[in-house]
Amino acid sequence: MMVHNISISKPDIGESEKKAVMDVLGSGMLAQGKCTQNFEERFADFCGTKYAVATSSGTTALHLALLAHGIGIGDEVITTPFTFIATVNSILYTGATPVFVDIEKDTFNIDSTKIEAAITNKTKAIMLVHLFGHPCEMDRIMEIAQRHGLVVIEDAAQAAGAWYKDRHAGSFGTGCFSFYATKNLTCGEGGMVITNNEQTAAQLRMLRNHGMRRRYYHECLGFNYRMTDIQAAIGGVQLQRFADTQERRRENAEYYNNNIRRFTLPHVHGNCRHAWHQYTILIDGKAEKRDRYVRKLAEQGISVGVFYPIPAHKQQHICGQLPSVCMPIAEEVAECVVSLPVHPGLSLRDLETVSEAVNHL
Ligand SMILES: *Cc1c(COP(=O)(O)O)cnc(C)c1O
Repeated sequence: MMVHNISISKPDIGESEKKAVMDVLGSGMLAQGKCTQNFEERFADFCGTKYAVATSSGTTALHLALLAHGIGIGDEVITTPFTFIATVNSILYTGATPVFVDIEKDTFNIDSTKIEAAITNKTKAIMLVHLFGHPCEMDRIMEIAQRHGLVVIEDAAQAAGAWYKDRHAGSFGTGCFSFYATKNLTCGEGGMVITNNEQTAAQLRMLRNHGMRRRYYHECLGFNYRMTDIQAAIGGVQLQRFADTQERRRENAEYYNNNIRRFTLPHVHGNCRHAWHQYTILIDGKAEKRDRYVRKLAEQGISVGVFYPIPAHKQQHICGQLPSVCMPIAEEVAECVVSLPVHPGLSLRDLETVSEAVNHL
C-alpha cells in the first residue's frame, strides 16, 4: 500500500514567488537594495509600526535587537526556558545573562505573574516569546517593564499573523521575526526587527551593516546581518498572500478543535488571535509515552513535531555555565507536547487522517 506522507510543515511557495525571484536575478541587483526596502516598508505597515529592519535570520534579528538597546556583559535578561534555543543564544552572544522565568501551562508562554520576582538591579530587558503563535500577556508585561524601566524584546519568530487585542504581536516593544522555511511567512532564511523608535531603527540599520552609516566610515563594531533582495522578493509575495495562508491555518486548527476528542487541545485567550504556527496538544504522562505515540503516528505516514523536548535551562551549553534552576512547568510540558501538522498545504483528507489517528492512539 502506498502511504501518503503528511509533513509537519511545508513552505507554501507559488508561481508568483518564483517569478519575483527570477525578476531579481535578472535585474543584476542581488544584495540588500530596493526590494528589501520595499519589503521592510510593507512589513512595518502590516504590523502597524513605524519602522522595520530586515535581517539575514530570526537569530540575527534577536541579536541586533539586544545590541541596539545596549545590552551586554553584566546585564540580565529575563526570558522563557520553553523556546527554540535561538532566543537564549542571542542573549548569550551579547555576554548578558539569561534569567529564566517558568511558563503558563495553557499557553506555553512566560508566566507574567512570576516576572517581577526575577527582577534584580542588573535586569535590563525582558525577552519574551509568543510561542507557537499565541501572544503573551502583553498588558501586564508592558506595565511591569514600564514600572521597572526595562526594555521589552519580543521574539515573534512564530507569531507573524498573531494579534493581542488590536495590536500585532511584536509591535509592543522591539519585535523580532523569522522567515525561516518552516515559518508562517518565509523567504528561506530571513528576519525582521520592528519598532516605533527612530533611534532604535537607526541603530539596527547601522549594526546590520558593519557599523556604517556613510560608506566605509565605521562608527562601531557591526556585523553583516543583511537580507538579500532575492529573499526580500519572496517575502514580499508571501506578505501579499498572507491573509489567505493564515486563514487556511485557522481553518485547519478549527477542524482539529471540532474533531479531536482526546488529550488537551490548545487554549486561545479571548483577547488574542492565534497565528497557528503550531497546533500543540498535551499528552498526559511521561516522555516515553509521548515518544511511543509519535512513532505510532510516523508509522501511519503522519509526521508530528516535539517542540521542544528539552527546555533551554537543561541544554548542555547552558547548564554548563549558569547556576542550575528548576522550572517545573516547562520541564513537565517538555515531556508531553506534540505538535500536529496545521500548515496551509493540508487537504481535508489529511485533516481527517490526522484527527482519526490521534483519536485512536
Ligand atoms: C525560528 C525561531 C527563531 C530563530 O529564527 P531563525 O530564522 O531560524 O534564525 C528564534 N526564536 C524562535 C522562537 C523561533 O521559532
